[in-house]
Parts: sequence; structure tokens; C-alpha cells
Amino acid sequence: MSAFNPRHKIATRTRLSEVRYEIRGELARRARELEAQGRKLIKLNIGNPGAFGFRAPEPLQRAIADHIHRTDPYTHQQGLPEAREAIAAFHQRRGTPNAVPERVFIGNGVSELIDIALRALLNPGEEVLVPSPDYPLWSAATILNDGRPVYYRLDRDNGFLPDPEQIESLISSRTRAIVLINPNNPTGASYPRELLEQIVEIARRYRLLLLVDEIYDGILYDDAVFQPVAPLAGDLPCLSFGGLSKVHRACGWRVGWAVLSGDPLACGDYHHALDLLGALRLCANVPGQFAIEQALHGGDTISALTAPGGRLYETRRALIEACRASEHLALVPPAGALYGFPRVVGPAAQGFDDHDFALEMLEQEHVLIVPGTSFNVPYRDHFRVTLLPEADQLREVFIRIDRVLSRRAEA
Ligand code: PLP
Repeated sequence: MSAFNPRHKIATRTRLSEVRYEIRGELARRARELEAQGRKLIKLNIGNPGAFGFRAPEPLQRAIADHIHRTDPYTHQQGLPEAREAIAAFHQRRGTPNAVPERVFIGNGVSELIDIALRALLNPGEEVLVPSPDYPLWSAATILNDGRPVYYRLDRDNGFLPDPEQIESLISSRTRAIVLINPNNPTGASYPRELLEQIVEIARRYRLLLLVDEIYDGILYDDAVFQPVAPLAGDLPCLSFGGLSKVHRACGWRVGWAVLSGDPLACGDYHHALDLLGALRLCANVPGQFAIEQALHGGDTISALTAPGGRLYETRRALIEACRASEHLALVPPAGALYGFPRVVGPAAQGFDDHDFALEMLEQEHVLIVPGTSFNVPYRDHFRVTLLPEADQLREVFIRIDRVLSRRAEA
């Protein structure tokens, strides 16, 4: 391999230097170095079910295998017709207005569709209301498409819920959209219907597009209830994102979708722009699309994992108990999704820096966690872990976390 040519400078027009994605960043690189030296690590940085032994349900695997001979051609840019029909029917069942196959866009994961959705929307300098903390792709894609993320607060003293009044106070003449992530990554919050109705009303008043990331829509614990936004939005333009990565444990297949709802007359241009951007990348990965119908109509396979006794439920219980038992940690128990987002409190929190802590956890305790600031928060006292390991492994992680925090509290 030849050395990097210093003339090959990165683009400044795309504002790449402003973009962060620390879930797979510096700490993950250091982790790979340690592994190359023979260290055994516990890596809790990525919500990657397959890496923790979860498998996509067998009927989904079979659906791909049975159709593999039909996966050679490109599909329509918006996706395979039968898969789009299955997604539209799924959305109709939950009450999404005007959910027809023509308004379904299948992508290489929700990730690709987030970029397309913002690229189709934004002019230079326009603003997107993004939650803080956020899933950092939302900020990154806004910036890369010449927009500006304006952060609304998920209030850590109020169950990490958004505050509609604060959202409204941030709206300017440049605001184009509100991003909602529900159930939330990284906080695990699940939003009540009344709160979502208030946010929808704000979007209506200021004619903002709703961009609703519902990739964790089936992952809920105890009595939490998922409330989709599109049925509340009615004729208001709304793009709802879902996929196979989390609920169906098939993130490597790279299958996501976005469903455009609301008055077709109000979003005709936007629809065409999404279609054009889809056409420019030809189509999404085809084999994975054959699993969509089975995933959405083949019955529930996730609640066995999220109900008491199920693996995700028990790991979440271990998280809650470990945080309760620790004098150094406070936690808003996750109502949904695959993460815990604890806060460091008490003497250990004095002068605490989440990045230093994550580095210490990696170097000394061989555990990879994600610093809270990676999720675009203005405070430095949180970190994120996934709920994907076995409960015992998560207990072990929190023994090590407590060890480091106790050392710091005494220092
Ligand atoms: N949105 C959220 C909130 C996520 O947490 C993730 C992945 O972790 C994605 C989108 C991307 O998912 P996909 O695998 O469909 O690209």
C-alpha cells in the first residue's frame, strides 16, 4: 500500500470535519488494536444483535433462501412491489393515512434513507430540530446535506421526554423539520400519545415535516406502549422509518423503509425528490427485501425476548438493578429499545469527563462503552451501553464500572 497522498485532502464543502460518529470512532479503533494484541474485550458500543448471538427468525432466513434465484435483477428504486405492499399494509393496520405501496421507499437500512430524506429536503443553512441526545446519524446527515441541527432537549430530569414548549421556542423561519426518535436511542424513552399530539400540532402550525425514526417500534418493556406518529399527523406530511435491523435482529441484511404519509398534494415534490434520489442509487440490496413480508405478517417474534424471562428483559433488569445498587449511578429505566444511558452522580461525578472514563474502561477494564457526548448532549456525565449481552455479562460490566467509579470517588 502506498502512503496517503497529502494532496488528497477531504472535501470541505460537505463539512465532513464537523461530523462525528463516535459509536464506531476513536475508541472502537483502539479496541481493535487491543484485540489484535490478544486482549479479550466486552464491546457494548454497537446495537448489533447478531454480534451477541441473536439470529433473525428462521422463517425470514428461509424467505431469502427460497427467493435467492429471484434476487439477481435490480428492483424498482423504491423497492420490490410485494415488499412495499407488505409495508403499506402494516402501516394501514396501525392507522397511517394514505399508506399505499407507491409511498413506500425501501433502502439499505434506515441509515441510507435518513440521508436521502434530508438531501431531498434541505437548502443550505436550513434547520432541522434534532433531539439531544440524538442518534448521531441524524445530526451527521443534516450537516452533510448543508443543514444545521438545532437541538431540542430530552429532559433527563423528566424521563428524557421532549418539552413541546421548548421545541416551539427553537423554531425559526429556516426550520424545515422535526426529528422524533421513538422508542429512543440512546435514552430508551417511549413517548406518550398526548406528548406526540402536542408535537404534531406544532409541526402543523409551522408547516414542518415530521421525520419519525421508529426503528425500535416493537422493542418495549413492561407496560410501555408504542404510539406511532403518522396516524396522529393525519394529513400532515410525515416520513416514518422502520426496518429489519433491530426488531427482527437482521441488521446485516441492510433493510429499512420509509413511508410517506399526509396529504399527497402537499408532498408531491418531496415524493418525486425521494424517488429520484432512490433512482440514482438504483435500488436497495435485493435479497433482504424478500424477508420483509414474512417479518411484518409472520407473527410477533420479539416479545418473547422483551417479556419477563426473555433475554432482553433480563439484561435490562440487570442494568436497572446494577444502577440502583451503585452509589455512583442514576438511571432512567429504558421503556424500550436496546440501550441504557446511565448518569454518573455523587463524588465520582466531580470533574468527570465521559470520554476519559470510556478510555479508562477500555484500557483498564477491557469494556467498550460510548461516551454520552457522542450523542450531542451539552453535559459530560453519561455513557451508553447496549442491552444485547447476557444479563450475567452486563452484571460483570457494571462491577467493573463501579470499580473505576469508586476509585475516582476516593481520589
Ligand atoms: N435509527 C436509529 C435510532 C438507530 O439506532 C439506528 C441504528 O442503530 C438506525 C437508525 C440505523 O439502522 P439501520 O440498520 O436500519 O441502518
